[in-house]
Parts: sequence; structure tokens; C-alpha cells
Amino acid sequence: MASTKVTTTDQGSTAIRRSNGLVEDVYEAIFGQLMALKIAPGARITVDNLVKEFNVSQTPIREALGRLEGEGLVVKQHLVGYHAAPQITRRRFDELYELRLLLEPAAAAKAAAAMDDEKLAALREAAGVMARRTDTDERLHYSTFARQDAIFHDRIMAFAGNQLIREMLSFQHTHFHIFRLMFHWRVTEEALDEHQALLDAFSAHDPEAAEKAMRVHIEHSRDRLLPAFAET
Ligand SMILES: [Zn+2]
Repeated sequence: MASTKVTTTDQGSTAIRRSNGLVEDVYEAIFGQLMALKIAPGARITVDNLVKEFNVSQTPIREALGRLEGEGLVVKQHLVGYHAAPQITRRRFDELYELRLLLEPAAAAKAAAAMDDEKLAALREAAGVMARRTDTDERLHYSTFARQDAIFHDRIMAFAGNQLIREMLSFQHTHFHIFRLMFHWRVTEEALDEHQALLDAFSAHDPEAAEKAMRVHIEHSRDRLLPAFAET
């Protein structure tokens, strides 16, 4: 995982590698601000301000913003510039969870049936990164969790073996959008127990338990995030 320091002091590396590392660092820094709502949904993002904040040139910032645009977190408008993507609407949220409940529990059952030691290790690794709380920065922990949750769920979809379903869910960038709804410890802490229930079902090669664990996880995730709409 790349750090969020926006510095490049790696003297031995090539110019291209230095440049890639810089884009990565700038990307991580902006990603973290978006996920922690330091850049609010819908807010204007000014390249010049980021140039000042990170003390880098426009090029890595534009590259990082382009990548975030591809992930649906940033919107670029011709002649206007960049904005943080707006918060998802209640309607879209309901649609997203309906879609997830249709696809993910069944996929989890298929993944459990196809589970082997290597796959289980890959899932434990993804879940383990979320559980680790070595960083003291709560906001950094939160954005790391959001990304890792996306990886965890994507791996389950990969093991379920339907590439179309996997792409369809991946294309929604679900986790980036739902994690921006709320910045709260419950969103991450409670999900850890639910992920453990999933891992237990996978390690037992139990499709029925995996389907149920995934359904419970998605329903609870929905219920944890619903209060975000009451505040607006
Ligand atoms: Zn999850």
C-alpha cells in the first residue's frame, strides 16, 4: 500500500518511476480526502489549490484526478473543471443494495463451493488488511478500509466464476460511494465480524452458510448507512 506522503526523494530511480510514484502519492492523498469527506461530495476541486497544498506541478495532479474520474469519485466538466462526485441519492442507494442482494449472496455460495486453500488465503489476506489498525490516522484507516472492502468483495466474485457479474458490480464502484455516505467507526468495526462469518463459511466449504453470511453482511451494511440520508 502506498503511503500518503507527497514527496519524492528516491534518488536512484528513473524519471518515469519517480513520476509514477508521485502520481500514486498524489492519488492516495486526494483519494483519502474524498473518502474522509475532507473534500465534500459535489465540492469543486481546483488544480491550482492542490498544486499549492501538495507542492507539486499540475501534471501529477491532473493524472491523479483522471484516475479518480475513472473510479467515479471525480467528475470533470469541459471548461468548468473538476468536482467531487455528488453523494449518491437515496434511490440509487436502494437500487445498489437491491442489486447487491440479488447477486452477491448467490455468488458467495458459488465461491464457497469452489473454495480451496489458495483462494481462502487470498480472502484472509484481504480481510486481514482491514482488521489491522497500525495507523493512528482514523481517516486514513477509513479510506484504506473502503478500498480493501472493495478488493475483498471483488475476490469473492472472482472465485464465484461469473466474470459478467464481477464486472457489473466492479463498475458501480459501490464501496467508494457507500463509504462516502458516512464517516463512522461502526461502518468498519461491525463489518469485520461479518467478514469473519463469511471467512468461516468459506473455510468450511459451506455454500449455504456463505450465502446467508453475505446476505446478513449486505443487509447490515445497508442498515448502518441508511441514517446518512436522514441527516440531509
Ligand atoms: Zn464487506
